[in-house]
Amino acid sequence: MQTIDNFNFKDQKVFVRVDFNVPFDENFKITDYNRVSAAAPTLKKILADGGSLIISSHLGKPKGVEDRYSFKHLIGQISDKLGITLKFAPDCLGKETAEIAATLKPGEALLLENSRFYAAEEGKPRGLAKDAPEDEIKAAKKIVKAEQKEMAKTLASYATVYVNDAFGTAHRAHATTAVMADFFDADHKLFGYLMNREVDAVEKVLNDIKRPFTAIMGGSKVSSKIEIIENLLTKVDNLIIAGGMTYTFTKAQGGKIGNSIVEDDKLDLALELIEKAKANKVNLVLAVDAKITDKFDFGKMSLPSDARVQFVAVDKIPDGFEGMDIGPESEKLFADVIRKSKTVLWNGPTGVFENDTFAHGTQAVGEAVVEATANGAFSLVGGGDSVAAVNKYGLADGVSYVSTGGGALLEAIEGKELPGIKAIKG
Ligand code: AMP
Repeated sequence: MQTIDNFNFKDQKVFVRVDFNVPFDENFKITDYNRVSAAAPTLKKILADGGSLIISSHLGKPKGVEDRYSFKHLIGQISDKLGITLKFAPDCLGKETAEIAATLKPGEALLLENSRFYAAEEGKPRGLAKDAPEDEIKAAKKIVKAEQKEMAKTLASYATVYVNDAFGTAHRAHATTAVMADFFDADHKLFGYLMNREVDAVEKVLNDIKRPFTAIMGGSKVSSKIEIIENLLTKVDNLIIAGGMTYTFTKAQGGKIGNSIVEDDKLDLALELIEKAKANKVNLVLAVDAKITDKFDFGKMSLPSDARVQFVAVDKIPDGFEGMDIGPESEKLFADVIRKSKTVLWNGPTGVFENDTFAHGTQAVGEAVVEATANGAFSLVGGGDSVAAVNKYGLADGVSYVSTGGGALLEAIEGKELPGIKAIKG
């Protein structure tokens, strides 16, 4: 496999799939540049070698061409942040784009419009009625798959080399993330620096485990993390479950959870996971206390001034109150386990950390992860919310690696082969 360090991009036209799916406000001001900065080393190396860049990314989840998700609003800010002058192609396909790509000179860079303006990027039909007949769905899928191949082939025709540096979308078999790699031979497709770092970090957690290995799974729902939790139960020594998932486990064991978030159809599953942990001799660590409130505006993430906030045992939450974060006993319990660990994986906050009243648990977990790291542990933090948390509390420098991937990171750790990685590694 080619590596970016050894590859000389001189006079090459290089198609680079990056993840510029950045958050921005109602005035199109980018609010977090992490993903742009993360792609910079790869883009700069190619330009410094004397190559030219054709950069592609998706932005948001448009259902077709949607002005709100056009890169035209963001290109100036991205250019400034990278320190690279970017030309813009107002479409990622079409004759005009092909011509701009063909006339790029060494050292020049072109950003293509949002790849998800085309359904072919994702290879999934759009706009089908929910109750569409089976054969109609089948036919539509077949058409869009053929369009995806065509799109990949066209995009590949712009370039001589394909570089994938978009770990955040590596779990998707999309035209720009995986399918187009088939149009390049093994000597002309490679990972960018970011992708290399992400793949190394995952390998470390999967194959080079120093024990004890502790995973901290937070966030809102068991259902979205079930596969990773099951998989982790075969790997870790300690599994800390936090966040909204807590209350499904508490209720399953007969506790009172008041109005806390719960997945009633996952109660049996929660009990099964508890049994599985026992069978695998995994120390499953659940919260023992909770910070609760009787009022919260989830739309604005704000606490009304007349809301009551209390600490109670996690299984004695009164009716009318809901669990919003872990309490001090749980913080101590979690931190003691984390501090003694030699490998730590953290995904998801312990509570509704978007509001400072319920952020203490998440911060305490972050600080314990930093302490473990200072004591020699390898710590990997991933998933949008936990990354936002480590940044918010200035802890990013104290952990070993902050992944740019959410879903991609979890799927990689589940042991799945990511299409974006397979497409290059073979
Ligand atoms: P996820 O996307 O599954 O990682 O979940 C992250 C979200 O979980 C954050 O927006 C948190 O506000 C939310 N969350 C964490 N704890 C709770 C809780 N106790 N009740 C409701 N939402 C929660």
